[in-house]
Amino acid sequence: MSNSTGPLRPSPISATVDFEAGGVQHGFLKLPVSNDESAWGAVMIPVTVVKNGEGPTALLTGGNHGDEYEGITALHKLSSRLRAEDVQGRVIIVPMMNTPACMAGRRTSPMDAGNAGNLNRSFPGDPDGNVTEKIADYFTRVMVPMSDVVLDLHSGGRTLDIIPFAASHVLDDAEQQRSALEGAKAFGAPYAIMMFELDAAALFDTAVERQGKIFVATELGGGGTSTPQSLAITERGIDNFLIHYGLVEGEVEMPAEPQAYLDMPDASCYVQSEHTGLLELTLALGDTVTQGDVIARVYDMTRSGVAPIEYRAQRDGVLAARRFPSSVNMGDTIAVIAEVVESLG
Ligand SMILES: [Zn+2]
Repeated sequence: MSNSTGPLRPSPISATVDFEAGGVQHGFLKLPVSNDESAWGAVMIPVTVVKNGEGPTALLTGGNHGDEYEGITALHKLSSRLRAEDVQGRVIIVPMMNTPACMAGRRTSPMDAGNAGNLNRSFPGDPDGNVTEKIADYFTRVMVPMSDVVLDLHSGGRTLDIIPFAASHVLDDAEQQRSALEGAKAFGAPYAIMMFELDAAALFDTAVERQGKIFVATELGGGGTSTPQSLAITERGIDNFLIHYGLVEGEVEMPAEPQAYLDMPDASCYVQSEHTGLLELTLALGDTVTQGDVIARVYDMTRSGVAPIEYRAQRDGVLAARRFPSSVNMGDTIAVIAEVVESLG
């Protein structure tokens, strides 16, 4: 965050595309950097703008975290497929918001050490901050104000695997909350969730919602890869999102099975490890769990013949997310249990 008390200076990022021009443009958001590899260099964030006539603006973002490939891949594909005549309004596609992280195949940017490189903990950002904060600031002050609806595509990345869902949040503005919830349902993933965030203050979500814009987030798999199944859900969901908010003509295509609604009302949904060792999960994603059930065991890897530590569900629900690697450290989230509900909101 900026320490200055005056107005923020303009973003150092410049776009090589004209956001007001009709047609299809492919270009970059250019962020000047000066380092050992490039004295007068730039971080080049790919962006595609597709504009046709009057209508709303949809901002589609992937790669907020650099190892979440479902959104990154689906948006790269969309950027070469979407034609101006398909669109009424404007669709802005940024497949890799945190491009340095994506290029490194990492959750966070290698240009900013540690958690400072986590874009989704850097909002609203700072034009005088590090590389990651400058990217966050540009989205907060330039991209979001020109948008009406925002779809931010996340998944579990290398360390988590997550059931496919679109999510919205509980908001003070009832109409804003309703519209985002309808968008999350219309995404057409197998699950829709009213999401409780562990730490919402510095999220992109919050930066968008504070501007009164409609925000839908997703989690769509994980493990640091995509599968044919997860990519199909992601691509159908993006199409559904654009159809639902009137940017593209067509019918929203829902999954064959009825959509399940989940709620994550508080922090007891998150099961975190208090031990370091070898993780055995006793449930698969989507399995039903009852409070008190053993959901995981953690084994001491330094010796044999030791009984594992058992982790039990603190609530009824379904396994919505799990740690992906089998090695676990203290503090890692092992599992997330979401509550099954009849309706959302
Ligand atoms: Zn993410």
